[in-house]
Amino acid sequence: MKDHVIISFFIPHLGCTSNCVFCNQNTITGYRSSPDCRMVGRVIEERLRSLPPGVQCEVAFYGGSFTALPWTQQRSYLEAVQPFIERGDIKGIRVSTRPDAVDEPVVNSLMGYGVRTIELGVQSLDREVLKASGRNYDASLVEDVSLLIKDKGLSLGHQLMIGLPASDLAKELETAERVIRIGPDMVRIYPTLVLKGTALARLYREGRYHPLSLREAVETALLMLTQFEKAGIKVIRLGLQPTPELEKSGELLAGPFHPSFGELVQSEMFKWQAMLLIERFREREVTNRLKIYVDRRDLSKMIGQNRSNIHFLKSRFGLEKLGVVGTKGSEQAWVGVGPWHREVPQMVLSRQSFLNPE
Ligand code: SF4
Repeated sequence: MKDHVIISFFIPHLGCTSNCVFCNQNTITGYRSSPDCRMVGRVIEERLRSLPPGVQCEVAFYGGSFTALPWTQQRSYLEAVQPFIERGDIKGIRVSTRPDAVDEPVVNSLMGYGVRTIELGVQSLDREVLKASGRNYDASLVEDVSLLIKDKGLSLGHQLMIGLPASDLAKELETAERVIRIGPDMVRIYPTLVLKGTALARLYREGRYHPLSLREAVETALLMLTQFEKAGIKVIRLGLQPTPELEKSGELLAGPFHPSFGELVQSEMFKWQAMLLIERFREREVTNRLKIYVDRRDLSKMIGQNRSNIHFLKSRFGLEKLGVVGTKGSEQAWVGVGPWHREVPQMVLSRQSFLNPE
C-alpha cells in the first residue's frame, strides 16, 4: 500500500489560451468533461474513506491550464478542497498549468488556498520547437516563472515532450540541460503522439510531421532520464498513462505509444547498468554462470519485456546461465552480481555510481 496518494481531477482543455498542435486532452486524460465543484468534495470524501489511516493525501487538478481559468472557477475548485485541508486529511493541492498563465499574484492566490505544487507544461525550451508546437511563449518566460515558484517555496514540476515538430535529439538534450539549470523538483517526459482532431494529425497526413519511432523515443527518454538522475532531479513519469480513450481504435493515429513506456526506458537503464557491472566483475572472476541481484520492485525492469535484457546479457557475455534474484530492501535502482553458486551479490553498483563514475 502506498504511503502517499494523489486524488486527481482532470479538467480537459479548460483555461487553454492556445491550441497546442499536439493536444487533445479528452483523449489523453480519458475525460470529456470537467468535474462539477460539488462532485470534487464527494469524490475526495469517498477516496479518503477507502484509504487506511496514516496515508498522506494531496489533491491535484490536471489536464488543462488551471491558472488560466476565470478566478471564480479556480476558487470554486480550490474551496471544495478547503474543508479537507482544515481537517488535516489533505496535505496540499497541486495544479498543472501553462507557464504564460502564472505570475506573482497568481502564485500568491494559489498559496492562500493550500496549493503546494505547480507543474508547468514546459514541453520544450527551444524557440523553434515552441513556435512550431503552438506554444506562445519563450524559454526565458519558463525560467522566470519557474524561479518565481521556487522562490515562493513551492514544489515545481516540469512536463516535457519529446518528438515535437521542429525538434531533434540535440534540442531535446539541450532542453534537459536548461531544465536542470532551472532545477525543478520533478520532471515528467512524454513522447509526442499524433492524436485524432489535432493540428498535428493534419501535418502528419500531409507528410509534414514524422513522429519518433518507439525505439527512438525510448533512446531519447533514456538519455534525458540519465541527465536528470545524474543531476538528482526526480523523473516521476515517462510516457502517457494508458486510458481506454487513448487505446480506442482510431484515436491514436501514429507515434511511439506503449502502455508501459516508462518500464521500457527503465529496462534499458538497468541493462546498461548490469552490463557495466558484469564487465567489472568478470575482470576479477572468470565464470559463465552468474546471478544478478536487484530490489524486488525492480525485477521486471531488470529482466525486460520478454526477458529481452537476460537474452541480451547472456549473448553479450557468452553466459551459460544468468539468473535474476529480487531482494527486499529500502533502496532501489541498484544492481548486484555474483557467481551462480552464491546466494549474495559480490559486487554492487548503485544508480548514482553508475551515472557518476569516479
Ligand atoms: S497542452 Fe495544455 S495548454 Fe495546450 S491545448 Fe493542451 S491542455 Fe491546453
